[in-house]
Amino acid sequence: MDISDLASRVIKGERRALARAITLIESARDDHREQAVELLEAVKGAGRQALRIGLSGTPGVGKSTFIEAFGVMLTGQGKRVAVLAVDPSSTRSGGSILGDKTRMERLSRDPNAFIRPSPSQTALGGVARRTREAVMLCEAAGFDIVLIETVGVGQSETMVADMSDLFILLLAPAGGDELQGVKRGIMEIADMILINKADGDLLPAATRTCADYAGALRLLRKRAQDPDGFPKAMLVSALSGDGLETAWEEMQTLTQWRKENGHWDAMRARQARHWFEDEVRLGLLAQLNNGAVRARLEQLGQAVAKGEITASNAARELLQGL
Ligand code: GDP
Repeated sequence: MDISDLASRVIKGERRALARAITLIESARDDHREQAVELLEAVKGAGRQALRIGLSGTPGVGKSTFIEAFGVMLTGQGKRVAVLAVDPSSTRSGGSILGDKTRMERLSRDPNAFIRPSPSQTALGGVARRTREAVMLCEAAGFDIVLIETVGVGQSETMVADMSDLFILLLAPAGGDELQGVKRGIMEIADMILINKADGDLLPAATRTCADYAGALRLLRKRAQDPDGFPKAMLVSALSGDGLETAWEEMQTLTQWRKENGHWDAMRARQARHWFEDEVRLGLLAQLNNGAVRARLEQLGQAVAKGEITASNAARELLQGL
């Protein structure tokens, strides 16, 4: 494969090249990994930045409906929109909550949109890598906005927030007066909470839920990267489109403020460092899978089990030999 040719076609915005590039970075083969690293280095030169928006919500809350409506609104404004899915369920079960091909029908036919479902089987730890690299490829391909969608399961929200410029939590109107068991940690990383389904019979409940969350957000400690009034809770209806324009305006206001006040660059720099450290960790784990190291691990493991050497000492010996 000619990597520099692939890189230049990605930078030209060729969708087939982008799809192929993402397939390459998703591959677990060692030679593909080498090529993927080379490809990422080559596209970096394009120097493009998209607005990365992380979007999380439990199944049924309306994520695909929202992304479809929001995405079509943005492409209607002349923007190019990429959608990536992070589906932690595919790692564990091989089944997918987000992979359904019939989702986002209009957007998937839109020439200014690119939708990439979560791969069906991603090695543990590989999900973050795959997504970060796919985001970088979409940016290089000139997309203005990259939406990273995930379900509220396990660590996936923190992971997505960590690679996004804005992190949005999508919620449905609550029946009772409880805060839907949304974990405090998730509220703390949200830049905006959108209460979806604010339409028809659900409007009163949505309005109440929105007020509850607005109140809860005001109680959180103020973060340096937020202007007054953020994080914000707002009403939207993905079905009718109500509130989507306003939500987009608020996202732009927040982004603009962060750019002007140095937070955008600082956040990106922090995320890049985190990415690097994750890669080092993945690299070390990969080394442990190497045949000779595995044999040594087994040998030392037996010695530890027999009490011939302490676990600490055996670990040190193994790591020093890497
Ligand atoms: P996802 O699992 O989070 O992707 O949710 P979907 O987008 O598949 O939506 C789940 C259900 O909620 C579907 O039946 C949608 O039609 C419905 N839904 C989504 N958005 C809205 C909305 O704004 N208002 C109403 N009333 N229903 C909605």
